[in-house]
Amino acid sequence: MYNTPPSENITLEEFERLALARLSVLKEMEAYKLRHPNKTEKELLDKLNQLKLKHMKGTGLGSSGAAGSSREEDIRADLISHYVLRLAYCRTPELRKWFLAAEAELFRLKFGTYSPEEHEQFLAAHAPQYRPVPDDELGVVMGDIKQVSWTRVPELVSGRRVLLRGGWAYVSREALAPLVVAEFRTGVSKGLSEMARRWRQMFPAEEEQRLQPLVASLANRSLVADYSGVATRYGDVSAANLHQVSARHFPLCMSHLMTALHTERHLRHGGRQQLTLFLKGIGLPMEEALLFWRSEFAPRTTGEAFDKQYAYNIRHNYGREGKRTDYTAYNCPTIVGFSGGPGDHHGCPYRRLDETTLRAALGRLNCDERKVEEAVSKARAGHYQLACAAAFEGVHRVPEMDVGISAPLQYYAESRRVCAEREAAAAGGVPPATAGVDAAAAGPATAGNGGAQASAGPAGPTPGGAAARVGVKRPAEAVVGGTPGNA
Ligand code: SF4
Repeated sequence: MYNTPPSENITLEEFERLALARLSVLKEMEAYKLRHPNKTEKELLDKLNQLKLKHMKGTGLGSSGAAGSSREEDIRADLISHYVLRLAYCRTPELRKWFLAAEAELFRLKFGTYSPEEHEQFLAAHAPQYRPVPDDELGVVMGDIKQVSWTRVPELVSGRRVLLRGGWAYVSREALAPLVVAEFRTGVSKGLSEMARRWRQMFPAEEEQRLQPLVASLANRSLVADYSGVATRYGDVSAANLHQVSARHFPLCMSHLMTALHTERHLRHGGRQQLTLFLKGIGLPMEEALLFWRSEFAPRTTGEAFDKQYAYNIRHNYGREGKRTDYTAYNCPTIVGFSGGPGDHHGCPYRRLDETTLRAALGRLNCDERKVEEAVSKARAGHYQLACAAAFEGVHRVPEMDVGISAPLQYYAESRRVCAEREAAAAGGVPPATAGVDAAAAGPATAGNGGAQASAGPAGPTPGGAAARVGVKRPAEAVVGGTPGNA
């Protein structure tokens, strides 16, 4: 139950790798549960094991039983990754809420796999307030039960689902898991609040500049992958074929903007920004972008007026004007957060369009009807990125994706890959190499730094002394579970 934070030195690279691996599992597990609310415990567990193998193999995390990792290594990596994410997700109530729910679910599933002996070992180590019933009492209190102070189980007492005797409540093993999970939640919640209060003090002053941004970015980065390879790999986009490419490969947010632009011969600033940066991201050269926008704005806007009013902004987005910043395309959380008034078309259509309009828009993409309904239902529940994933599956007739769409460029890259592989297979050729964009799209962007050293534990002297010391101090009361006094 993560009673004690780890206190060892690790490289920044490992620090980040472990955190991202755990985050991938938590996020994909959450998406799976949202998409399949009626899965059995066994199916959920199977999925969890599958995700662990996918993301954690080779990290020393959760792969016990798989080749190359001992149980001790698993425990160590589990502890480090939990505490790094705790540090990243303690900073706002929303982040804390998400992390707590995701970790509690992970813990619940793990606890359910323990054997009776492992339950007893676990309770002895982490929740000693839950005592196995001594042998000499078994004749009196029958069955497979545990003993706990009745004050800890008021719901069971009020529901008459426990035996009360001598100030103790006797709880069956089946009823134990929710109680222990509740203790877990309380402990992690307290630890998160304490960490949030002392966040800045958690970093040694000498490494504050380097470590704080990395930890903060873990929560913000949200597994948005690096799609910089998209433009290189599928660099066949020009003003002339853009509508054709859009019809096959663009996610709804971008195809919606393309349609509005073509129909109205204009887009407001928010729409122009969203679309320009995306088109840049898929590899449309700046000169082609200028050509495309100029021709789309005509005849409503003359070429001369376009050059005066709009061309600067496009060049600016390509980093050729002003501060010459190389702006990148927006990801889904950013786009979903956009609001707009009447006449605006930017933002995420799964959030902004009413159900009738959304159904019609998906129908125009030739999305499978069942998937249209799934997308509409996910959008109604506020799961816009899962809705987009369902639409992708319905448009491309592919099996279910593990996660929601995280960026329009991800949708585009996946669409190009699926279509290219089908075309190659139909032509009897070999599918394109799987390196390049797919490799980039497969995992979250990382900013590893193999040279420096990090520690997920308290600050202190670095053994060996050669590596930079970038420790995270141990919070005074970051104790999870534990005795009745601190649980
Ligand atoms: S989920 Fe993302 S990619 Fe899909 S439509 Fe919304 S913003 Fe676009």
